[in-house]
Amino acid sequence: EYMTFLDAGKTERLCAAETVRLAEQAGYKPLVRGQALKAGDKVYVCNRGKSVLLAHIGTKPISKGAQITAAHIDSPRLDLKPNPLYEDTELAYFKTHYYGGIRKYQWVTIPMELHGVVALTDGRTVTVNIGGDDGDPKLVITDLLPHLGQEQNKKTLAEGIMGEQLNLLLGSKPVSGEGSDRVKLSVMQLLNEKYGITEDDFTSAELEAVPAVKATEIGLDRSMIGAYGHDDRVDAYPALMAEIGTKSPAYTSVCVLTDKEETGSDGVTGLNSMYTFHFLQQLCAGQGADYITACKAAKCLSADVTAAYDPTFADAFEPDNGTYAGRGVAIYKYTGSRGKSGTSDASAELVSYLTGLMDANSVVWQIGEMGKLDLGGGGTVAKYVANQDIDTIDIGVPVLSMHSPFEIVSKADVYMAYLTFKAFCEDAE
Ligand code: MN
Ligand code: MN
Repeated sequence: EYMTFLDAGKTERLCAAETVRLAEQAGYKPLVRGQALKAGDKVYVCNRGKSVLLAHIGTKPISKGAQITAAHIDSPRLDLKPNPLYEDTELAYFKTHYYGGIRKYQWVTIPMELHGVVALTDGRTVTVNIGGDDGDPKLVITDLLPHLGQEQNKKTLAEGIMGEQLNLLLGSKPVSGEGSDRVKLSVMQLLNEKYGITEDDFTSAELEAVPAVKATEIGLDRSMIGAYGHDDRVDAYPALMAEIGTKSPAYTSVCVLTDKEETGSDGVTGLNSMYTFHFLQQLCAGQGADYITACKAAKCLSADVTAAYDPTFADAFEPDNGTYAGRGVAIYKYTGSRGKSGTSDASAELVSYLTGLMDANSVVWQIGEMGKLDLGGGGTVAKYVANQDIDTIDIGVPVLSMHSPFEIVSKADVYMAYLTFKAFCEDAE
């Protein structure tokens, strides 16, 4: 089921739409501002088609606490530039601008598909899907052949492929007749036939190129899943399943599936926006509860992927504090770079609460850090929740080849993440 979810939601918009579909199927209704809420009510808000908030009202008042899970549904990818289409030497291309932290050399010579929307001047929004369906043609970024690679080989890995070289190959067949840019014109004609768009419409478009590979089992033992976008749908999906699977929770459960984590959580659909906290305020208002009291009593599991220890690149890791694929869901007391910069450092008391809950529910877990201290690091959405006076801790599924076009997770870890979110949503203590 998780693999089906991955294939259905390769962009934040597609993932949000699939989430809303599953939520409505489970009886969740759109939250109406000012609506009174009582135990058992199931409500959701979809923020601008890119992030989704769900809540199941508990039997205890929200002033006694809420159990919040937060994950993100955007993933590293290649967005189209505002003026993307060009022709060079009878080949047509889209220029891209990478979204999130990618190692650019990994994104060449693999099949890609394009998803997104174009907002037209007449008010309509056209949904674009090129390569997403079986039998569709795909797009690709080329690389230099080894026979002529001598100069490129001298560059560092970071410089071998540069941002301006990430151009998607679109077509090679010109329209008949005379004149320049006839391949580009041919591509534009095909887009116009299928979507009714013209070249000017690219300026009001959000088009995202993602790997055209389906989720697949990995290993002779089928113990792992390879896919694009585990980060962070591998936490979002189990959190969503726990949210919609919990029957009559004691504490109100809230599931936050946010956007824009990979670019730093800024923007109207990111967790640095107030949208999630406006939702919490409305949950409080619906029960006549005090928002500040509710925040102080709430707990949040900030669920994001962690780096799985990779023995092939052992130098990057600190083995005693690594997190390992197949050893269960990982707890990160803190994240951040170097001297814990940008972290939300969870309290010892909150770690103890979580490990106690996991132990009581036979969840296999591990605790660690991302890798060697001075190599870099990274952050999550935890700090944006914690900044609202809500106790927050990072947990997540370890991933091999994180941020690559094809990431790997252990099935057992995904299941342990689900058991953790389930125990958290069902906690009545
Ligand atoms: Mn992530
Ligand atoms: Mn990430």
